[in-house]
Amino acid sequence: MQPRRWQQAWREAVRDPRELLALLGLHELALGVSDAAAAQFPLRVPRGFVARMRRGDPQDPLLRQVLPLDEEMRPVPGFGLDAVGDGAAKAGQGVIHKYRGRALLVATGSCAVHCRYCFRRHFPYAEETAAAGGWAAALEVIGADASIEEVLLSGGDPLSLATAKLAELTEALRAIPHVRRLRIHTRLPVVLPERVDAELSQWLRALPWPVVVVIHANHANEFDASVDAAMRSLRDTGAVLLNQAVLLKGVNDSTDALSALSERGLTAGVLPYYLHQLDRVAGAAHFEVDDATALALHAALVAQQSGYLVPRLVREVAGDASKRPLTGDGDGRNRPPVA
Ligand SMILES: *Cc1c(COP(=O)(O)O)cnc(C)c1O
Ligand code: SF4
Repeated sequence: MQPRRWQQAWREAVRDPRELLALLGLHELALGVSDAAAAQFPLRVPRGFVARMRRGDPQDPLLRQVLPLDEEMRPVPGFGLDAVGDGAAKAGQGVIHKYRGRALLVATGSCAVHCRYCFRRHFPYAEETAAAGGWAAALEVIGADASIEEVLLSGGDPLSLATAKLAELTEALRAIPHVRRLRIHTRLPVVLPERVDAELSQWLRALPWPVVVVIHANHANEFDASVDAAMRSLRDTGAVLLNQAVLLKGVNDSTDALSALSERGLTAGVLPYYLHQLDRVAGAAHFEVDDATALALHAALVAQQSGYLVPRLVREVAGDASKRPLTGDGDGRNRPPVA
């Protein structure tokens, strides 16, 4: 069978840090590139995403998210391997059930892009995915627990899977009466917008549940016309689009960058959902923004933006019943600063 156009683009992704730097006219940065970091978690970035990086700018916010650097190999106390307690929360093969009402399905371990700050960079998800087991174990867990009303496809990136494979899963989910919502956590429509093709839209449109697609963009520059078109196609299926971002030093740690991200997302039809404090995973310490700075940035955003353009600033704490808000007095509401 002919590979789909998106599968072709996937295969053509840049995997060599030196090639990436050459494409950007940044040969001199090759000295800071870490072969050890790249061996641990290889560079991978689709060419369309590279095209959105600024040539000749070593501080480019998109480049920083994907380039393996020496800093990653420096051990930092407090930054470990299972930063979010997923090891303890696994309910069965490929299912993580931490929060009431919703179960997260680790559909696949693959991603089209490798984000250096990713908390999954050390997780053995290759063997733990639901698709690998033909969905059977995952479906059994979900079917046996009537409290699960929402199934959340995550990964890795669930849209890494062929549409036929996703359809196989949703066919089986239809038979579970307590499932009432479907959510998809994916970065593919941003980093490889070719993925949102007619076949994917057709699948989404035919689903019997409300569908929420939570994309992942950290900077306004991640959007371009091709991403806008992908978002339009997703919205045309009836899906609700939200964005989650991670607060990252050197990428989006300014009020202007966060404000521009929300506004650019809105232009594409996407509202902000979460702004995550970094999970403290080994190799990502240089991206961390301290809580006081995060709160100040968030308060400034609240003071200058429309309420619906302000994401909830949260952190994932192992054992908590939900993401933990950093703002206000912990009741989950974003309080404006007292003038
Ligand atoms: C983040 C997360 C969810 C979704 O939480 P919401 O607050 O509903 O977005 C569900 N399950 C797991 C395991 C999660 O990490
Ligand atoms: S797309 Fe998401 S899961 Fe994949 S590497 Fe990036 S942050 Fe991690």
